[in-house]
Amino acid sequence: MTTLLTGATGLVGSTISADYRLKGKQKLDLTDWAATYRYFKEIRPSAVIHAASRVGGLGANMKYMAEFYHDNILINTNVLEAARRTGVTKVVSFLSTCIFPDAADYPLTEDQLHQGKPHDSNFGYAHAKRMLEVHSRAIATQYGLNYTCIIPTNIYGPNDNFNLESSHVLPALIHKCYLAKKDNTDLVVWGSGKPLREFIFSKDIGEITQLILEHYEDTDPMILSTSEEISIREAVETIADVMGFEGTILFDDTKPDGQFRKPTSNLRLRNFIPEYQFTPFREGVKQTVDWFVENYGSCRK
Ligand code: GDP
Repeated sequence: MTTLLTGATGLVGSTISADYRLKGKQKLDLTDWAATYRYFKEIRPSAVIHAASRVGGLGANMKYMAEFYHDNILINTNVLEAARRTGVTKVVSFLSTCIFPDAADYPLTEDQLHQGKPHDSNFGYAHAKRMLEVHSRAIATQYGLNYTCIIPTNIYGPNDNFNLESSHVLPALIHKCYLAKKDNTDLVVWGSGKPLREFIFSKDIGEITQLILEHYEDTDPMILSTSEEISIREAVETIADVMGFEGTILFDDTKPDGQFRKPTSNLRLRNFIPEYQFTPFREGVKQTVDWFVENYGSCRK
């Protein structure tokens, strides 16, 4: 099997091994059909893990709605079409739980993906990503190829974006805790600390993706989650403990909590790999903190 990975530098991509690893736009702009098709014809992969996409936080999604739609539609369409035309028999593409309908039933299940409008704040990105699932299913149906999608919950780990304004909660809190310890200040957390999230360690995503690539015969999309909910308070206490921060943790109620919880069902994943042991949260946080401290000078922040 000759494997190609798109989006190789990101949080997820950096945990996945492949024969060819596409990093960013420098080598190949996936919105460019001719260049993408040429590249596929040149390297002739037999399997593709498609993790590349234009991503951003809430602010960027709202401000650049049209570009998020346009770039992702082109990237996904080009990758799947180039793969199909060059005889790739397996493609595993990354979606995200944030593209589910705003008014879904919880826990989220794969069959609800297209059953309602996504949240207004990211409808450009969400629709483009949903079409990746539609396109994969259409190819699987018409050509009998194993093109499928995976839908992870909140991923965390080394190589994440640790920017205090634009990052997700775990990298933000790790960075804040690092600064609070260094400067001897309070650690200020946004919101009440009560919301619940399902965090999954990037290394687990990498391992599970490899298993799906090699052994998942179905083409139905699959949610990747531990199904273990952790409160923001528990998360920050774990980070503080791992980092040896002994100062005060404050919860800033003037900042938004966001959705209270968005639990998912991991039944399909559990049926596929019943024995898989997820990295315990504390252990994943420790590895992420160690990486952050070691790479403080050069990481995205
Ligand atoms: P979400 O999972 O899409 O809601 O996105 P986030 O990962 O950004 O935030 C999850 C939760 O963490 C929300 O309840 C936030 O209020 C809370 N939170 C606490 N401190 C921070 C912080 O410093 N940065 C971010 N992004 N979220 C924080």
